[in-house]
Amino acid sequence: MTELPLDVLPGVANVHSHAFQRRLRGRVQARNPAVRDSFWTWREAMYDEALTLSLSDVERTARALYVEMVESGYTAVGEFHYLHHQPDGTAYADPVATSRALLRAAADVGLRITLLFTVYARGGIDTPLSDRQRRFATPSIEAVWRAVDALQADVSPTVQIGLALHSVRAVPREWLGQLTAGARARSMVVHVHASEQPAEVAATRDAYGLTPIALLDTEGALTDVTTIVHGTWATSDDIARLATRGSTVCLCPTTECDLGDGVPPTSALFRAGVPLCVGSDSHVVVDPFAELRLVEHLARAATNERCVVVDAHGQVAPALTQIAHRHGYRALGLDGTGDTIGLDLGHPTLASTNADLASVAWLSGHPGVIDRVTVAGHELVRNGRHVERAALIG
Ligand SMILES: [Zn+2]
Repeated sequence: MTELPLDVLPGVANVHSHAFQRRLRGRVQARNPAVRDSFWTWREAMYDEALTLSLSDVERTARALYVEMVESGYTAVGEFHYLHHQPDGTAYADPVATSRALLRAAADVGLRITLLFTVYARGGIDTPLSDRQRRFATPSIEAVWRAVDALQADVSPTVQIGLALHSVRAVPREWLGQLTAGARARSMVVHVHASEQPAEVAATRDAYGLTPIALLDTEGALTDVTTIVHGTWATSDDIARLATRGSTVCLCPTTECDLGDGVPPTSALFRAGVPLCVGSDSHVVVDPFAELRLVEHLARAATNERCVVVDAHGQVAPALTQIAHRHGYRALGLDGTGDTIGLDLGHPTLASTNADLASVAWLSGHPGVIDRVTVAGHELVRNGRHVERAALIG
C-alpha cells in the first residue's frame, strides 16, 4: 500500500470470525469437574448457544461485535458462517436470510466483509448430522451454489462472498475438489478449518490414511486462494504442501489458547514462506494487537528464540504488518485501500520512546491507543469510538 504517515498503521483484516460465538464470552470459563474440559466440551456449549438464536439475535450480536472490531483496529472481517437455518433446522423463507443479516450488520457498521458461506454436510467422517447440527446443514453441492449465487448480487468493493468448507470432518471427500473448482470459477476464496485438534488429525488419518491438509491437497482443494484456518497440528509434510500450493494459514492465537488447541508451528510455516494472517475466531478477545503479538510470542515460546517472524532486515513489526494487512486482505479477496488505524500519540502506552512506532504499537499496544479508524477512506472511529456507536448498539 502507499506510504502512510508515521502515526498511521494499515487496518487489520480479521480473517476468521464466527460472530455468534461472541455471546459465549465469559460464560465458558469454569471447569466441569465431571469431564476433561477441552475443545470438544466447549463445542457442546457453543451448540447450545447456536440453537437458541433468532435471526434478529444473529444480526444484533454481529452489529455489536463489528462495532467492537472497528474500535479495536479491525477494518475487514471474514465471517465463516454456518448458522444457515432456523433453530429446528427448517429453512427460512429466504434460504440465505442469516447471511444477509450478517452483511447488513457489516454494512451498518461500515466494516468490510467477506461472507464465507460454509458447507456443512455431515456430523463426522462416518456420521450424519446430529439434531444439534441441523441448523448448519447444506444438503447438496447444488444447494450451496444456489445460496452463493443468490448472495453474489450483494458484492461490492466492501463486500465479497467466499466459500468455506467447514472441515474435512463435515464435508465429504468427493465434494472437496468440486467445491474448490466451483469457487475458483466464481473468483471466490476458499477457507477451511484444518488440523486444529489432534483427535481431528487422528480421525482423518484413520479414515483416509492422510492428514486433513494432505487430504485437501490430494483432492485439489489446496490452492493459492485457499486459507487453512488453524493448522495447529500441521506436520512438516503438510507445511511443504502449503508452501508448494501457495496456500495461506490463518492463525487465531487468542482462541487457540482459550480452547487449549496447542501451539502452532509458526516458525516452520513462516520459514517455509507460507503467508500467515490472523483472526479473532470465537471472540474471547477482540484485539488485533494481542493477536499479532501472540503470533510472534508463541513462536518464541516454541523455539526458545527471539524475533522469529521478521522481515528481510530482521524486523518484527513490518512482518506483523504484512500478516495484519496484506496477507489478511488477500486471504479475504478484498482490497484494503483506505483502511487505516490512526494512533493516539498522547497515549501513555506510546509516549516517551524513540523507538519505531509500529514496533511499539504491535508489540506493546492495545485498542486503547487508537484514535481514528478509516475503512475505504471513511472515518468510522474518532477519539477511539465508532461515530455512530450509540445508534448501532444502543
Ligand atoms: Zn472457526
